[in-house]
Amino acid sequence: MYYSRKRLLEELPQENTTVWSCSNEKCNGWMRDNFVFSDQPICVQCHSLMVKGEKMLSIVVNTSPSQTRG
Ligand SMILES: [Zn+2]
Repeated sequence: MYYSRKRLLEELPQENTTVWSCSNEKCNGWMRDNFVFSDQPICVQCHSLMVKGEKMLSIVVNTSPSQTRG
């Protein structure tokens, strides 16, 4: 029985997620587009400009149902 539970934890579904990455090559700061409320976000770690990109991330369950449907 516990095998299936363990497998579930190890195989979290992932999807290509829109993220903002820090433009500073020496900084690995990034944040999900979902949590960005500005047209041009600033890195919280080094305060550089951030660039839009994509990243494979575990799917986050959105707690507000109204936003899950485009
Ligand atoms: Zn940064």
